[in-house]
Amino acid sequence: MTSKMRYQEMLPHELEAVLASCPVAYWPLGTLEYHGPHLAVGNDALKAEGICERACARSGGVLVPTHYWGIGGGHKTYPTSVIVADQVLSNLLDDVLEGLYRVGFRVLVLLTGHYPGEQVQAVKEAAQRLGKAHADVRVWALPEYEAYPQERRADHAAKWETSILMSLRPELVDISQLLALGAADGPEATRTLDEMNAPGPLHGILGDNPARYASADLGAETVETIVENLAAWVKRSLQELGYSQ
Ligand SMILES: [Zn+2]
Repeated sequence: MTSKMRYQEMLPHELEAVLASCPVAYWPLGTLEYHGPHLAVGNDALKAEGICERACARSGGVLVPTHYWGIGGGHKTYPTSVIVADQVLSNLLDDVLEGLYRVGFRVLVLLTGHYPGEQVQAVKEAAQRLGKAHADVRVWALPEYEAYPQERRADHAAKWETSILMSLRPELVDISQLLALGAADGPEATRTLDEMNAPGPLHGILGDNPARYASADLGAETVETIVENLAAWVKRSLQELGYSQ
């Protein structure tokens, strides 16, 4: 099998070889959204991309280009946020999933690193529609924290999201931006939208104070479990569909 992973970089004969033995497509989804002063604004998609890359390396298959146009969330009015209309995403999900099916992919992973209910629901509903239309496809559609069932490791730009990006893309995290605002001496956590939106060192952050609690090691352990689970689920689906690994 080719060692290439990115769908857009493949030649037709390389793609044919993947489809014959391991017709798996991973699609990372996120958004462009303010994630505190310390995280890249593409955090959600970057997180999903890094996880999908690692899972794809273990299970085989391809990576579909990362999708940055998300919906929902309470951060539409923050600077740096770009959010599209719900229907735009639903239509796009349907068209891309149907297109991937037509190409020959039979196990699809839609991993969203952006968690608002609207986005998670849109991704899961699109997966259900594809599954209803075709009996010979398996679709895993989820926010990445669902692949860490032991504990809910989800927040907004706080301990977990910061740890995960520190582990995957350390060059895109700058804790000194938080420290300069006094976050190390700030509250333990923000627990409500009002607390998140209040001025202060944790403005725009929801969850445990990342200046105190985030670490690359925690992120790496979280990512490893998620990657291992995704790759195992994909392999199981391939077996169910009659592809031997
Ligand atoms: Zn996020």
